[in-house]
Amino acid sequence: MRILVIEDELKVAGFIKRGLKEEGYAVDIASDGEEGHYYATTNDYDLIILDLMLPKMDGLTLCQELRKDNISIPIIILTAKDTVKDKVTGLDTGADDYLTKPFAFEELQARIRALLRKKNHQASTILQAADLTLNTVTHKAARSGREIPLTTKEYSLLEYLMRNADSVVTRTMISEHVWDINFDTFTNVIDVYINYLRNKIDKGHKKKLIHTLRGRGYILKKDRTDTP
Ligand code: CA
Repeated sequence: MRILVIEDELKVAGFIKRGLKEEGYAVDIASDGEEGHYYATTNDYDLIILDLMLPKMDGLTLCQELRKDNISIPIIILTAKDTVKDKVTGLDTGADDYLTKPFAFEELQARIRALLRKKNHQASTILQAADLTLNTVTHKAARSGREIPLTTKEYSLLEYLMRNADSVVTRTMISEHVWDINFDTFTNVIDVYINYLRNKIDKGHKKKLIHTLRGRGYILKKDRTDTP
């Protein structure tokens, strides 16, 4: 999942980015409102974290502009102001949630997970495809009950494939949701990671879950009917 952080305080932005990257999110930072608006309208983000007090365009105006353009990406507002009025205005402007600074990182993470579940119409915190399960809170994967250790990037890629199970995902879609803005399109890094995942998820299992569609991309098949 790829997140845009619009925050002019470099320390706060850096802190959020580091923490979210450790959790496997791809993160881009915009340091003023105009840049934030540009990023949000040109890239396909899964969620936006928006500070209210920003140079060039303030957070509320930015939120309004995005909703006016029918951009429905979940937005969490960060506000230093702890007044009820600011929170109400933020939510009424089209934000989905808010967090008052200073905040506990665990709370930000939990709110992000909750919004992403809502966005993906997912009631459970556990994703499942055939006998493969992925816990989106603990990041633990298991196949047939046997735990599979994953690196942060492998987790992110598998989460994306499982959220889109039974649909074709192209390399472009993967690069846009699992990697950040510095992704180098001239590398085969996606294929390399798909192979890592195949070795961990499918190797030794008769039923393969990850399939390559030549010239199109990949598909993770949920289908339980053709079990061996
Ligand atoms: Ca600020």
